[in-house]
Amino acid sequence: MSTCPSCHGARFILGGIVNGTTGAFKGVRRTLCATCNATGSISEEFHERIKRGIELRADRLKRGLTVDQEAQRLNLKPYQVSDLENGVPNENP
Ligand SMILES: [Zn+2]
Repeated sequence: MSTCPSCHGARFILGGIVNGTTGAFKGVRRTLCATCNATGSISEEFHERIKRGIELRADRLKRGLTVDQEAQRLNLKPYQVSDLENGVPNENP
């Protein structure tokens, strides 16, 4: 197991609460971490996938392509490119 890269093992993520009408800052809310399902750690396999996704995104940005352009190039749907970059497990390998 590896420490969750999103919450760094804290099991929750801090997010700002903003007034929807005025945009005024209202405070900070703790949200349970969705990356590790609030366990604070992730499997080595998931960790590797996240690392690979970060590399894929960096590589795409270096080439100046949007997610849509990259999807077209790889003959994928844009959501599939973004899933790959976010380390989301591939349901249909
Ligand atoms: Zn987490």
